[in-house]
Amino acid sequence: MENIYKKSEKKAGATPPPIGYELLGSTAIIEHSGTILEQKEMGLKLIRSNNRIKTVLAKAGPVQGRFRIRKLRYLCGDRKWVVKYKENGCEFVFDPRRTFFSSKLSFERSRIINNSSNNESVIVMFAGVGPFAIEIAKTHKGSHVVAIEENPYAYRRMKDNIRLNKLKNVEALEGDVAKKWKLYKDRFDRVIMPLPWSSIDFLDAAFNVSKCKSIIHIYIFGDASSIVADSWKRIKEHAHSCNFKVKLLFNRTVRTYSAKEIEVVLDIELKKPANSL
Ligand code: SAM
Repeated sequence: MENIYKKSEKKAGATPPPIGYELLGSTAIIEHSGTILEQKEMGLKLIRSNNRIKTVLAKAGPVQGRFRIRKLRYLCGDRKWVVKYKENGCEFVFDPRRTFFSSKLSFERSRIINNSSNNESVIVMFAGVGPFAIEIAKTHKGSHVVAIEENPYAYRRMKDNIRLNKLKNVEALEGDVAKKWKLYKDRFDRVIMPLPWSSIDFLDAAFNVSKCKSIIHIYIFGDASSIVADSWKRIKEHAHSCNFKVKLLFNRTVRTYSAKEIEVVLDIELKKPANSL
């Protein structure tokens, strides 16, 4: 997120309030509670202040539904919806009205790349247009990555993005993780679960696709004061009920939604007894 709050305006106590925006290639997406006219003025100001920005869109609703999509409004600049975005050495093309995407997760993606190594088998559940899967596969050419996504539009763009990044080691699958995991029992060294609203409901799938020893990265959204302790308790209970061992390796806040609500990631080591395979 960048900010166009100019010092001179701050001093003069003049108009617009500070405004953050997300930059996806040459498209800026702003969040602004003013009228559409005020939003357009802000958009023009952004274009004038940063010559990388060619199009300005505004968030026009919350992220919602099973596909985690948000309505966007065109404000000014080139009238186009498709963005070309680069991150961690990879390129992604998609229409942000039709799929979830957040550049705020780029640090988290590079953290997972650094945690991963070559020759691993990795599954990205809830893969979107493929950022986790493609960035891991491109960095670790000896890895094999499976990526599952239910939104048909995001799945098609993920396939395009795999081609765009010239990768042969990513297998994209369209469908519901709740069903598709059954194709991959006991197969993965690493499991990535980036669906913070409900990934904890997919623990069974994550445990089942894991090899006898694996690392699971689970993203969870909730109350800042209790989310890590509550989630860890639930994960431990689930593991014990399957006779598996879990160890909490690491956790961090990925982003803050409000004073009370945050998204966290828990890195977990899972061990299954050999006779359970
Ligand atoms: N990993 C991507 C990223 O970081 O940009 C997307 C994350 S987004 C929060 C979650 C994605 O999971 C959405 O694209 C949504 O369509 C998909 N999804 C939700 N429920 C799913 C399910 N049961 N099976 C497969 N994909 C699902």
